[in-house]
Parts: sequence; structure tokens; C-alpha cells
Amino acid sequence: MRILEKDYWKKIPQWKNVSRWEWEDWRWQIRNRLKNIDEIGKVLGKDLSKLKKVEQVFRTGTTPYYISLANDFSDLENPILKQILPSCEEIDPFIQSEGNFDPFKEEILSPVNGLTHRYPDRVLLRTTNFCSVYCRHCMRKRIFLEEERARRYEDYINMFKYIKENKQIKEVIISGGDPLTLPNRKIEFILENLQKIDHVESIRIGTRELVVNPYRFFDEGLLEILERNDKVWIVSHFNHPDEVTDVVKRAVKNILSAGIPVLNQTVLLRGINDDPETMEKLFRSLIQVKIKPYYLFYCDPTKGVLHFRTPIDKGIEIIEYLRGRVSGIAIPTYAVDLPGGLGKVPLEPDYIVEKTDQYIIFKNYEGKTVRFNRCKFDIIDTKKSEDLCL
Ligand SMILES: *Cc1c(COP(=O)(O)O)cnc(C)c1O
Ligand code: SF4
Repeated sequence: MRILEKDYWKKIPQWKNVSRWEWEDWRWQIRNRLKNIDEIGKVLGKDLSKLKKVEQVFRTGTTPYYISLANDFSDLENPILKQILPSCEEIDPFIQSEGNFDPFKEEILSPVNGLTHRYPDRVLLRTTNFCSVYCRHCMRKRIFLEEERARRYEDYINMFKYIKENKQIKEVIISGGDPLTLPNRKIEFILENLQKIDHVESIRIGTRELVVNPYRFFDEGLLEILERNDKVWIVSHFNHPDEVTDVVKRAVKNILSAGIPVLNQTVLLRGINDDPETMEKLFRSLIQVKIKPYYLFYCDPTKGVLHFRTPIDKGIEIIEYLRGRVSGIAIPTYAVDLPGGLGKVPLEPDYIVEKTDQYIIFKNYEGKTVRFNRCKFDIIDTKKSEDLCL
């Protein structure tokens, strides 16, 4: 886990007079976010005007907190800056030619506005298209092209109605944009409505605020709402160990105190985290702050994101490196989301060398092989065993 210096933001000239009270207020972070290339360039002390062409296509933005995590403002290849600074590759027609704005047909698999129903027992709600940080690798990058706004109440009402009428729905995933950028009263409205539908057993909130604006979870009002709604889980999105700070640890502690478990989804990103050592450090740090790594995703084929892709095998290689070296609770499931809305498929290193009706030969994490006889229970006559007891 990374320990930030006391008043760490004061060494950045723009924020040297910002008090702790202001900086640690999530609303201050959103109000004072950097909304374009010029504002980011000013903080970095760099002329970034050549990137304006990209910004005209895909929106740009970051919280002051998130950009302040970059160790070195002069190195634009820094893993923090790479996630927020647009690059010309995003609009390169050759690189992006195979991309699609909605590779998972979220809008088509949508029986009501903003609700995607792909698996029988789960639905996904897109509640807003606003984010306090616009991640360059976002799988839903099409929202960067739209006006920033939350959904209308009428849309929410229709979503609740659909969920109420479809009793096979056991879980609701609240997504965005970033749902936790919404004001508390809207979050309360959504959660209370879902909480009271009996067949909804769990509610999952997918958010990046824990990474880019952890002060969101210093807000007593939000914590009380989470505490009252006891079906909630939070799934965050950390991609690099530099993001896992002591502020995050305090935020997670608040969330856990409200009775909410915290999981994480990481995206495998070229030039940011596509090496085993970085991933090991990331997953170890997450365990330290009590976040359970849930998924490691292969980067989706979204238009504007294809330059972040690695070979698929890279992820398998990383999991193979971690297995045996790192605590099992720190290892996520590596998965690829199939285009066309066909769902997620887990990918595992192959630990089976040979398989027959009698035995399986396994390979362990060090490459040692062992022959393991198959269980023969299907040919045991249980009646005979009973006789033995008489
Ligand atoms: C990812 C996703 C889910 C959740 O999948 P899990 O494997 O349960 O995490 C549900 N619905 C949609 C549309 C998704 O994209
Ligand atoms: S916070 Fe999530 S939805 Fe928003 S830009 Fe980042 S990845 Fe996309």
C-alpha cells in the first residue's frame, strides 16, 4: 500500500492553498475537476494542445486527487497519466478499425431504456453517463460522445417496474458512467426501490470513485444509506499499485463498517499493467486494504480503446506466474467478455497434462507432474457396504 505524504497536494502549485477540509470533500473534488486538455496541461506544466483533436471526439477529465497520484509529471507514460491523458492512437482509423462502440450489444439487449438483461438472473443498470474521471480505456467509451447527465426519473421507474415483473432477477448491477457521482438522494432513491423488491437478493454497485475520488466514502450521508440497504456489494476498478493509497484504505474501512464487502475488477492494459510484477504488487496491495480481486479482464474491443490491447495469452501468463507465488485470495479470475453479448468466459492456465478414464496427470505450479487416480464411486454397490455394517 502506498502512503501519501501529509498535505501531499500542496506541492502542486495550483492547489498549494487548498485546505485539508476542502481537498477531502468529494464534492470539492468533482467541482474542481480538470475538464479539458488545457486545464490538465496547466497542472502538468506542459503544452498538450496537439491532443485537442482527440478531445473533440472523446471527452477528457480527472479529479485533482487522481492526477496528484502521478509520481512524475514530466513522464507522460506514467501509469496514472496514461489512464487520463488522451492519445492520438484513440482516433487512429487503422488501429481502431476493428473496434465497435457497443461490442456487447448492451443497447440491443435492453428491454427498457438503460437496462441490459444478458444473463437470466442478473440485470445491469446504466444510471448516468457522467464520471469524475474519463478513463481512456473505458469499455463504454460511447458515453464520452454524449452529453453528461444522469438518467431521468421516468427511466428509473421503468427499470424498477421491469425488475419487479421478472422474478428470475436475483441481482441488480448498478453501473454508469459512475453511479456514485450521483447525489445521495438519487442513490438513496435507487437503492431503497431495489432493496424492497423481495426476489432481488443482492445489489452490486460498480464504481471507480474508490480509485479516483475515495473521499466519496468519507461522506456520512452515503455511508448511512449503504448501511440501511443491506443487499449491497461494491465492485471497484483498480488497475495499478500506485492507485492503492492509505486514503483508499480509510475509505474501505468506512465501507466495511457499513457492512458492505468490496471487490475489484482490473483491466489488462498494454503499457500500464501488462507485466506479472506490476500485477503481483497490485493484487497484494488490494489485499492489504481489504479489497478482494474478483476479475482480471482482457481489454474489450471498444472503438477508441484498441491500442491498450495485449495478446490474450498475456493474462494467462500473468495468472500462471501468480499461482503458487501469491496468496490464493489475491488471485482474480481472468476472463474475456465475448463480443455480441455472449457473456464472460474464464481463462485458466492448463494444469492437466493427460486425461484417461482411469487417471488424470496434473502439473503443479512448479511444473512437477503427478498421476491422480479418478474416483470410482460410480461403480460402488452401496447396498453391499450397508451389509458390512450389520
Ligand atoms: C459483466 C456483466 C454481468 C455480471 O457478470 P458476473 O460474471 O456475474 O460478474 C451481468 N450482466 C452484464 C450485462 C454484464 O456485462
Ligand atoms: S469510471 Fe468507469 S465508466 Fe467512467 S470512464 Fe472510467 S471505466 Fe468508464
